Amino acid sequence: MRAMRFHQHGGPEVLTFEDAADPVPGPGEALVRVRACALNHLDLWQRRGMPKVRLPFPHISGADVAGEVVSGAPAGTRVMLQPGVSCGACPQCLSGRDNLCSSYDLLGYMRDGGYAEYVKVPVANLVPIPDHVGFVEAAAFPLTFLTAWHMLAARAALQPGETVLVLAAGSGVGQAAIQVAKLLGARVIATAGGAPKLERARALGADEVVDHYEQDVAAEARRLTDGRGVDVVVEHVGEATWEKSVRSLARGGRLVTCGATTGHSGSIDLRVLFARQISLLGSYMGGKAELLEASRFFFEGRLRPAIDVTFPLCDAGAAHTRLERKEQFGKIVLEC
Ligand SMILES: [Zn+2]
Repeated sequence: MRAMRFHQHGGPEVLTFEDAADPVPGPGEALVRVRACALNHLDLWQRRGMPKVRLPFPHISGADVAGEVVSGAPAGTRVMLQPGVSCGACPQCLSGRDNLCSSYDLLGYMRDGGYAEYVKVPVANLVPIPDHVGFVEAAAFPLTFLTAWHMLAARAALQPGETVLVLAAGSGVGQAAIQVAKLLGARVIATAGGAPKLERARALGADEVVDHYEQDVAAEARRLTDGRGVDVVVEHVGEATWEKSVRSLARGGRLVTCGATTGHSGSIDLRVLFARQISLLGSYMGGKAELLEASRFFFEGRLRPAIDVTFPLCDAGAAHTRLERKEQFGKIVLEC
């Protein structure tokens, strides 16, 4: 098959479109012809290299995949793939918390992903999609919507009528979190940089928007809540925004984070933590059942991944560059 691989860490130039061996599915696995694969920030980390992480080489990234079943399930079935792969047998997996499995992995991380013509996955990771859902949209859905769903519905236990601050509306997690928070009945304040992105954040359902280049996010969060602060902050930016995210919280507020794109350090004054009764919540992916739950709203058209632009698989380097320069609003998708 043709695949976009890298043999060493580095810039977009290490991505090489070349021949690779066809994946051979094992017992309980399906082979899928990839039609679309969405980018995630994780793909950039993988390509650049991460401390203490040794990726298999040559490496095929790509956690968000849609395509057609070739074998292992009825051939031709249109599917999107659960990005998380777990053992399926431990107490965490059996209780539906498979993202806490000690052997939890992602497509395109320790196993080959979707930057290729074919990918193999456990049959349990196949999610059939209805005919009216296109492959590009389907590939753009799983990782970010599963992440946002788990952050808001499970970790933060968001209640109708609460106010949520969503950072970076144009990011994959941001655009998903706005929609999930609205679906759960919350009021949403979203941040983005520049008028065009603020307009798109409103179109996705944000009730209020804040320009994070021009305005003080914490001050705006207070102003827009009559001085109270927000009930929940959706964090994924990290070091650059952490302090203001904490300052945006109301008494009893919850800060839920799934990423640290701008740096790994964040501190908090412990007096603020206890006196204001703040909860700091970590979140990573979500359970398989949660993706199925969120998918119902996707198939009904009530959750719609924002698509930025598509590239052919052979132009994955240009796609990476666009994501690295933060030029996108929503998901960048490779077509194959
Ligand atoms: Zn397990």
